[in-house]
Amino acid sequence: MRTRIFWSISLAVLVSILILGGCVVALEYQDTSRDVWTALSAKAYYLAKAMEDGGAAYLEKVRGYSGRVTLVDTDGTVLFDDRELASNMENHASRPEIIGAMENGAGRDERVSGTMHERSLYYALRLPDGKVLRVSDTAASVVGETLRFLPWMLVVMALLAAAAGAIATRQTRSIVAPINTIDLDRPLETEAYGELSPLLRRIAALKGELSRQVEELRQKQDEFDTITRNMEEGLLLLSREGIVISLNQSAREILHVQEADPAGRHILMLSRNVALEEAVRSAVEGRRAEEIIELGQKKYQITASPSTSGGEVQGVVLLFLDETDKMLAEEKRREFSANVSHELKTPLTAIYGYAELIHNGMAQPKDVPGFAGCICDEANRLLNLVEDIIKLSRLDERGGSLEKLPVDLYALALDTAASLNTRAREKGIGLLVEGEAATVSGVPSILGEVLYNLVDNAIRYSEKGLVTIRTAAQGEAAVLTVADEGIGIPPEHQDRIFERFYRVDKSHSRSGGGTGLGLAIVKRGVLFHGGSLGLESSPGKGSVFRISIPTI
Ligand code: ADP
Repeated sequence: MRTRIFWSISLAVLVSILILGGCVVALEYQDTSRDVWTALSAKAYYLAKAMEDGGAAYLEKVRGYSGRVTLVDTDGTVLFDDRELASNMENHASRPEIIGAMENGAGRDERVSGTMHERSLYYALRLPDGKVLRVSDTAASVVGETLRFLPWMLVVMALLAAAAGAIATRQTRSIVAPINTIDLDRPLETEAYGELSPLLRRIAALKGELSRQVEELRQKQDEFDTITRNMEEGLLLLSREGIVISLNQSAREILHVQEADPAGRHILMLSRNVALEEAVRSAVEGRRAEEIIELGQKKYQITASPSTSGGEVQGVVLLFLDETDKMLAEEKRREFSANVSHELKTPLTAIYGYAELIHNGMAQPKDVPGFAGCICDEANRLLNLVEDIIKLSRLDERGGSLEKLPVDLYALALDTAASLNTRAREKGIGLLVEGEAATVSGVPSILGEVLYNLVDNAIRYSEKGLVTIRTAAQGEAAVLTVADEGIGIPPEHQDRIFERFYRVDKSHSRSGGGTGLGLAIVKRGVLFHGGSLGLESSPGKGSVFRISIPTI
């Protein structure tokens, strides 16, 4: 800017100086010309007057004074010249000033010398005898005049250039300073010269527009963040090159991302999973891909979808769905079906065997009642098993739709003890109910089932001693314990006995009429009521099952 201003001013100065110089030279030129002509005409006049008295000889007297004097005859022959020998000089009849003098009495001409720096001015006067007296002098030419003024012009130009530099610096500063001090947050409050006002207004308008757009973008980003933050699914947006553009909290957790801002990193730096890499690659190539991948202990279904614009893939949307529970449940279902088939097969095989013996007449008549008893037992076991399976599947499928009512666990314990009292007595086991009323909100049939199974097990796995059912209201929970003095459960089995069909000792369970589903029903029932389960047991000493159910 400073340079431009400098050159603008310098150019203006140069042009001004040239014009001014030209004018001065022209005026000076005119001035000197006029003076020389006046002097020449006066000189010619005086010389002519003097020659009237002294004749041509007078010229000899004034030879070498000033200027040049030439006397030309009527035919153009040079009669006298005070600078050169007249006889050596050519005929002057064709000289314009001589012609002018001969024709009009006086003539003049001006010729520039070879060096161009001087011009010769000739003034000729016709004498009364017809001869022509010519006087001449030299004056500076235009070039000479210009050269005369050039040093001054250069000095003035140098001074003006310095002044232009100083002015340019000052002007630049005064132009730029207000621009540098523009407050971009409040442009209209900036104090500046008038010419800046349109710029300031434009900045203010642009700023307003920019703020509006930024705000709009922020709102959209916030909406997007709020939606994706609360998503359970992991969501990643990748560029066409596989660079992470953004990811939600779930995606961070799934990929164990530690950095505050992983944007800008390649997806492969977050996970080296081959299937994931494949899915991303096929999405980049424009094909949607779905894969099941395993990350740590979890299984995810990933969907990589290409994001296109104008037929071109611009990026990839990567979605992680946690399928661990679903797959685990499926696995458990498969396992359960296999177990059920196996459990059903055993009593059915036994029934079929006895029935076949009787049917084929291979059984001795005396054995038939025994076989029929066995068939009865196995059928009974089968029925129990089917009943337990039905109970469990009911709990699995529509437990949530059953109506909850206030249930007093103490009263329930008394009922359960009453229904199992005979069985306990048959085995010589005492059955005791202790404690206080503890009311919970629950489904009576499910709670009854839970309690029945616990007490039934306590009797089944005890050979002697006492089975004690205790109830207590403890703060916001009702606690029920079933303690026996039976065979107990080895520590290594304690974690697994609540699994479906898990038994510590299969034959003991079978002989006692167990189905392997009792504790699974207990666990399901307690969890359905939002409660918790506990077990303390030591082999040979007995077990204590403890359930705690919230009262509200
Ligand atoms: P089961 O029908 O075989 O009794 P459960 O699911 O009720 O099936 O119990 C699973 C296993 O836990 C039983 O087979 C048994 O080995 C063990 N068990 C359950 N209750 C007791 C208890 N009170 N004392 C000792 N062992 C027990």
